[in-house]
Amino acid sequence: MRLLVVEDDLEIQDFLRRGLTEAGYEVDAAADAASGENLALEGIHDALIIDLGLPDRDGLELIARCRAQGSQAPVLILSARRSVDERVRGLEQGGDDYLTKPFALAELLARLRNLLRRSSPAQQESARLRVADLELDLVRREAHRGKRELQLTSQEFALLEYLCRNAGRVVTRTMILDHVWRMRFDPATNVVDVHIYRLRSKVDHEAKQPLIQTIRGVGYVLKTS
Ligand code: CA
Repeated sequence: MRLLVVEDDLEIQDFLRRGLTEAGYEVDAAADAASGENLALEGIHDALIIDLGLPDRDGLELIARCRAQGSQAPVLILSARRSVDERVRGLEQGGDDYLTKPFALAELLARLRNLLRRSSPAQQESARLRVADLELDLVRREAHRGKRELQLTSQEFALLEYLCRNAGRVVTRTMILDHVWRMRFDPATNVVDVHIYRLRSKVDHEAKQPLIQTIRGVGYVLKTS
């Protein structure tokens, strides 16, 4: 799931970026309406989080322009404007939900999940990944192996999602660090191995058919045989 945050307060933008990334979302961010519009119109985001008080243009105008140009991603308005009139206006002018600042990250995440769940069934279907009897629900952030629900941390979920998206292809440690942690680590770090170890103990625990396989000296692959 990929999100776009348009917020000019860089402290809040950074807070959102970190919080959402930790919750397993991919996050793009913009600090003004013009660059936000350019990103939104790429059509690659599952939801948009838009502040109203932007330096170059009002957030409501940004939402209207995106809608007019065909963007269908649900919009969560995040604003310091608290009056009922402002909130109603936001919802009438294309916002799907409205959260006032200051906000709790937990509430924002809950509202976001609702928005993503409500968006089209087709999108919900594409929000599932399946490999053999392993199934990931990317909206609910739930993973099942057969009937067993896997209790994964958000990092483990992100790692498993990455392996599933590349099922049958070998991914190297560097690729995993790049995509899942989005950081440069000392290449000697064992963070990937440690997470794979934990993930394997959950995914392949007592399974007849282990899915996570090690390719010695190269990396890992998720496959059925
Ligand atoms: Ca602002």
